[in-house]
Amino acid sequence: MKPDLFQAPDYYLLDDLLTEEHKLIRDAARAWVKREVSPIIEEYAQKAEFPKQIISGLAEIGGFGPYIPTEYGGAGLDQISYGLIMQEIERGDSGVRSTSSVQSSLVMYPIWKYGNEEQRNKYLPKLATGEMIGCFGLTEPDHGSNPSGMITNFKDMGDHYLLNGAKMWISNAPFADIAVVWAKNEEGRIHGLIVERGMEGFTTPETHNKWSLRASATGELIFDNVKVPKENLLPNKSGLGAPLGCLDSARYGIAWGAIGAAMDCYDTALRYSKERIQFDKPIGATQLQQKKLAEMITEITKAQMLTWRLGVLRNEGRATSAQISMAKRNNVNMALEIARDARQMLGGMGITGEYSIMRHMMNLESVVTYEGTHDIHLLITGMDVTGFPAFK
Ligand SMILES: Cc1cc2nc3c(=O)[nH]c(=O)nc-3n(C[C@H](O)[C@H](O)[C@H](O)COP(=O)(O)OP(=O)(O)OC[C@H]3O[C@@H](n4cnc5c(N)ncnc54)[C@H](O)[C@@H]3O)c2cc1C
Repeated sequence: MKPDLFQAPDYYLLDDLLTEEHKLIRDAARAWVKREVSPIIEEYAQKAEFPKQIISGLAEIGGFGPYIPTEYGGAGLDQISYGLIMQEIERGDSGVRSTSSVQSSLVMYPIWKYGNEEQRNKYLPKLATGEMIGCFGLTEPDHGSNPSGMITNFKDMGDHYLLNGAKMWISNAPFADIAVVWAKNEEGRIHGLIVERGMEGFTTPETHNKWSLRASATGELIFDNVKVPKENLLPNKSGLGAPLGCLDSARYGIAWGAIGAAMDCYDTALRYSKERIQFDKPIGATQLQQKKLAEMITEITKAQMLTWRLGVLRNEGRATSAQISMAKRNNVNMALEIARDARQMLGGMGITGEYSIMRHMMNLESVVTYEGTHDIHLLITGMDVTGFPAFK
């Protein structure tokens, strides 16, 4: 792979909206990605393996629980810092950002928000350092966009719960130490349970042959009469709103992350367009290629504004789930379209691993699908503005 020459676009001088602390955090994450992720990520994506050696570095830049309070080992940062870290990590690779998002928003967040003090103290500090890795089991083979139909269930056996069912498409599953699993009790109410690797009847087979997020490990969670200790139930929230609260946090991070992938594709295509000569002039001097670049930077700038504002609203506790849906949907689609155009701008070179664009493009096909598909987020916006749910 070519050396990482990334230069971040900031067309509207949006750095002026950031504090000195935000910029320090972002620049540290950016430097780490250049140093530790860019040189190895193509090789790991090609061999479909998560690079476990970066886990401690991810923890050091605040990639695990950036907004979790410091008393539990988190970085205690605000929502814009969290977003900027996700942006920088995904600038390197969406699969690496997925590991960070899952650990932060889908494992640490529910333990922090819905767990008790013993659970927080037991798990959060180890998750923050990466000593322990978690995964989040919501999706099932027959229930993806409609998780409320889940059939994974647990029964109260007196001194423990008995868990049965299966989850599919679970990021980090093949090597996770714990899983936050969403299952129905005997009354059909959804609860979160912490399932630990090694519990009898719990297996995590890996999902192979993915063309997307190849540097992120994906797998199933199978529960065959798993005895889960009663103290592993998250006591402070139940119902579908509990997993959806986690998804709000993760989707917000994805909205930032997608900007990172888009910036990398734009920056690569811009540089290439100045160097690549055809018909005796740089391709960047042609109107057609300039149109692509002009539209890319316009869309990136709009997404940066939207997402910064969402961060302010999140910091103030005023962001709605529907606003988060809009940003996730807009930004991931924007990044995917930029990746496709940028790939074309590199001609044949665009399909090789010499450049990051094709990897971003393939990764974004997962990002546009997980955490609520592109269409589902549109239906959420539609419901928000009309008051009519069009899901059924
Ligand atoms: C790489 C990867 C990693 C993932 N990681 C995780 C994870 O860590 N944890 C986890 O729990 N899940 C994870 N997922 C699962 C992901 O969230 C689901 O794939 C996603 O929610 C969509 O579900 P589905 O694949 O079953 O598609 P379906 O729900 O079957 O949807 C198929 C199509 O139908 C459309 N559709 C569905 N319902 C409607 C409707 N009412 N109206 C109009 N169109 C509709 C959808 O938009 C989509 O285009 C991951 C997925 C991938 C690909």
